[in-house]
Amino acid sequence: MCGIVGAVAQRDVVDILVEGLRRLEYRGYDSAGVAVVSPTGELQRIRRLGKVKELSDAVKLNPTVGGTGIAHTRWATHGAPTTENAHPHKAGRVTLVHNGIIENFAELKAEMEAEGRVFESQTDTEVVAHLLDHKLTAGLAPLDAFKATLDRLTGAYALAVLIEDEDELILGARRGSPLVVGWGEGEMYLGSDALAVGPFTQKISYLEEGDYVAMTRLGAQMF
Ligand code: GLU
Repeated sequence: MCGIVGAVAQRDVVDILVEGLRRLEYRGYDSAGVAVVSPTGELQRIRRLGKVKELSDAVKLNPTVGGTGIAHTRWATHGAPTTENAHPHKAGRVTLVHNGIIENFAELKAEMEAEGRVFESQTDTEVVAHLLDHKLTAGLAPLDAFKATLDRLTGAYALAVLIEDEDELILGARRGSPLVVGWGEGEMYLGSDALAVGPFTQKISYLEEGDYVAMTRLGAQMF
């Protein structure tokens, strides 16, 4: 169980994300990564093996501009600690981070491979990105596709999700791994715990088991 941070704001969020990850370092991890949507809608993803410091150095070298983003520290359960297995994972329109274990990932992965989908990592996580992208491609709206995806998962997860062309939206979900929503002034945050978002807000909602959330910079709707 490691760390998740998300932020949606009218300013660049990468520093918020990296600071959030620093505050989650106490949980232990083997790699770290970040994904941010640029003002022109492009997704920038940076992943590094090792410390959050490696990631923040990489971010300094590759300035990451944009107001919607997610970040992760990984403690490998499925697939070695490598850059390819570091989160965020991508499939089609979907980019996401995950803490926990998807117990039925092998069966879901076989199903997605039968659809012609090609996997880039050895993680259990990547299958969630493919499942969600598959449902979006089938025409479901983001929230419906997310709900339908969560319904297929067994195991434990905290998730934070970006969807291409939904530039100011972050989806989150909690089952078996903690996740909190932080309320800022015209900006919103996600974090594994209150500590992660502590420098930015003291107003916190704790997701309960089975909850999922749709968050923009103006607020969050929980289901
Ligand atoms: N099971 C996932 C993986 O191995 C997530 C691990 C975690 O909680 O960081 O990539």
